[in-house]
Amino acid sequence: MTLSPARLSPSIWTAADQADARRPRSRQTQLGASDTVCERRAAYILHGHPRTDHVVSPAAILGTYIHAGLTADAKQEFGWLVERKVADTAVRGSVDIVQLDDATARKLPTRLRPKAPAEAVTVEDIKTKTVWKWDDVLRYGATEAELRQVHLYADLIRTDGFEDRSGQRVLARLGPVDVRQIRLRFICRDNGAEHVQEIDFDPQRAEEARWWLDRVAETASPEEARRDFNGPGLDAACDFCPFVTACWGVPAPGRPAQTTLIHNDMDVEQALIDYSEAHQLFVRGKRVKDLVRKMVDASPEGRYGPNILKWGGGSPVEEPDLAKMIEQFDDAELTVPQMPDAAKMVKILTAAGLAVPMRETSRRTARTIRIVPYRE
Ligand code: SF4
Repeated sequence: MTLSPARLSPSIWTAADQADARRPRSRQTQLGASDTVCERRAAYILHGHPRTDHVVSPAAILGTYIHAGLTADAKQEFGWLVERKVADTAVRGSVDIVQLDDATARKLPTRLRPKAPAEAVTVEDIKTKTVWKWDDVLRYGATEAELRQVHLYADLIRTDGFEDRSGQRVLARLGPVDVRQIRLRFICRDNGAEHVQEIDFDPQRAEEARWWLDRVAETASPEEARRDFNGPGLDAACDFCPFVTACWGVPAPGRPAQTTLIHNDMDVEQALIDYSEAHQLFVRGKRVKDLVRKMVDASPEGRYGPNILKWGGGSPVEEPDLAKMIEQFDDAELTVPQMPDAAKMVKILTAAGLAVPMRETSRRTARTIRIVPYRE
C-alpha cells in the first residue's frame, strides 16, 4: 500500500506555525503598529480581548522568512539598522530598516554606521505581496494602512527615539531622531520582483495615524470600533484574523458570517440599495471596458503613457488524442471501453498514473487583454 505523504510526514507548516507562535510579535499583548490594519482588530488587542481563533497563515509566515533573510543581509552588506524596536505608552513596533544620514551616523560607533549614509534619515518598511496583488502595488503604491503603519514608526523615532532596551541602548541614547524620509519596499513573494516607493515624512499623516489610535483607545468595547474588512470569505485579512469568531460570531449552518450584519428589514432595505448602486457602477464600468477592448483590438503590445498593453491567450487548444490513447491502453494492457469514450479513457489513464496523449486542434484559446501600469 502506498502511503500518502501526509501519513509519512506531518505538514512542515505545523513546525512553522509552532515557531511563529513563539515569536515575540505573536505573543505581544500591547498594540503593535502592524496591528493598525483594522480598527476593530486593534480594539480587540487594546481591550485585552482573548484571541478566539488559531490561524495558520503560510503567506504571512513566508513573509516573515523573507523579511528575516533580507534584513539580515541588508545589515551585513549595507550596514543598515534593522529590526529596531520603538515604543511609547500607546503602541510599539519593530522597524524593518532605518538608514541613517551622515550627521546622525557619526554619533554612533563605527559598527552601527551605514556603509553609504542616506541623504536624510529614512525609515523603511518591507512588504511582501503575491503576484496577484503586484499590479495594484505598481499602480496604487502603499495602502492607507501601510502608510499609517510606517508613519507611526517614523513618528515614534522622531518623538521618543529608539526604545531603551537591551541590544540597542546606544541607539536609544541618540534621543529623538529627525526622520525625513519614508521608504516602502515591496517584494513579490512569487518571483522576487522589487518595487520601491519613497516619500517625504508627512507630519499630517503621522498626526492622522495618532488620531486613528486615539479613536480606537476611546472605544468602550471592541464592538464600538469599525470593521475595516468585509469578513471571512471576502477579505483575507479576516480569513487569517485571530479575532474572527469574536468579530463575526458563528453563523447558522450553511450561512455566511456576513448574515450577522442583518438585524431587521431596514438592514435588508439598505443592503439592497447598496447592491443596486454598486450594480449601476459595475454596468457603467463594464461598458467602458468592453468599448476599450474592441477599440484597441488591432493595437500591438507596448507602452502607452502610464500603461503597458499586453495580449494573452490565442494559443492552440489541445484535446486528448483518441488514436494514441488506444495504443497506450494496449501497451499498458488496460481494457479499452467498448465504445471509445475520450472522457472515460482520460479518467482511466489518470488513475493509472499515465500521461494523457494530447493533440493540437485547429481551435485557439480566447485572446485576452491585460493592461499593467508602466514603471521606470
Ligand atoms: S475579522 Fe476582519 S473585520 Fe473583524 S477584526 Fe479581524 S480583520 Fe477586522
